[in-house]
Amino acid sequence: MREKEAILVRALGPEGEGWGECVAAQEPRYSAEWNDGAWLVLRDHLAPAALAGHASGVRGHPMARTALDVALLDLRLRAEGRSLAEELGAIRDRVPSGVSLGLEGSLDDLLAEVEQAVGARYRRVKLKIEPGRDLDVVRTVRETFPDLPLSVDANAAYTPADLDHLTRLDAFGLAYIEQPLPEDDLLGHASLQERIQTPVCLDESITSPTRAMEAIRADACRIINVKVGRVGGLDPSRAIHDIAVAEGVPLWCGGMLETGIGRAVNLAVAAMPGFTLPGDTSASERYFPQDLTEPFVLDPDGTMPVPRGPGIGVDPDPERLAEATVDRTTIRSG
Ligand code: MG
Repeated sequence: MREKEAILVRALGPEGEGWGECVAAQEPRYSAEWNDGAWLVLRDHLAPAALAGHASGVRGHPMARTALDVALLDLRLRAEGRSLAEELGAIRDRVPSGVSLGLEGSLDDLLAEVEQAVGARYRRVKLKIEPGRDLDVVRTVRETFPDLPLSVDANAAYTPADLDHLTRLDAFGLAYIEQPLPEDDLLGHASLQERIQTPVCLDESITSPTRAMEAIRADACRIINVKVGRVGGLDPSRAIHDIAVAEGVPLWCGGMLETGIGRAVNLAVAAMPGFTLPGDTSASERYFPQDLTEPFVLDPDGTMPVPRGPGIGVDPDPERLAEATVDRTTIRSG
C-alpha cells in the first residue's frame, strides 16, 4: 500500500491536545464501517455528545467511537504526564512483530516477500488464503521455510461446507488458522476446532467482551486477535484481555494499516501481559513511503519499541499532516 485515507480525531482542551485514529477503510468491504459514515457519526453524534458531557446513545460504529475515545484519553494522559502503556498495565517495552502478506501477486512474488520478511527478522509470517488459493500456497511456503512461524488468515472466505478441506491445513505446522468462516458463525468455528489440530484464531467474530466469552466457552477459538477499533475502544479491549487471560487463551494485536497514530496505540495494547503472540504491527515502511508520525522501525531482533512518552507517545508531524489533509471540520462546545 502506498496511500490510505484515514480520519484522525484531534481533541483540544485547555490542558492541551490528544489524537485518535479511526481504522475504518474507504469502502465498507472488510467491515461494515467506512470513512464517510464514520465522518458523519463523529461530526453529528459522537463529538457533540462528548462535548456536551453526555452519552451519545449511538449504536454500532465501534471504529468511530474508538477514534474519539482514544483522542480524549490521550488528551487526559498527556496532561497527567502518563503513557498509554502505563495506563493499560503494559509489562513489555518492546513487542514482537509479525507481517501479514496479501493475496496479490504470483507465488514467486509471495516467496520473495516471505524471504524479505524473514531477512528483516519478523517473528511470524501470516499468509492470506481463500478458496482456490490455499493448500498449494501454504505447502510451497512451508517447504521453502520449514522452521518459519507461519499462520494463515482467510478473512471469513470459507463456508461450513469447507471444513474437511480446511483440516488439510494441519499438515503444515501452522501457529493458527484465522477467521476461516463468516463472523457470525461461532458454532461453525467450534465444529472446525473439533476436527482440526491447528488452533482456530478469531478476528472479525470478536466484536465485544461478551462475544469473546461466548467464543471461548464454545471452543470456537483457542487464540484471539484483538483490534481496538473493531471492539469499540480500549475499555472493551482490556475486558477481552482479562477474559482471555482468565481462560488461558493467548492474544495478539491485529493491525488495520494504521498511520503512526493508530500504530502507537497497537504497540501499547500489545505490551499488555496477555498479548503473548507476535502481532501485525509492522514497520511504517511496509505501508507508507512517509508516515504521519516519526516512522516506526523494526529492530534487528524483530521487535518494535512501545512508545513511552505521555499519552500515545507520538505526534503527527504538522507539515506532513497539513500536506496530507484533504478535509477537516471543527466541532465546538456550546
Ligand atoms: Mg484477520
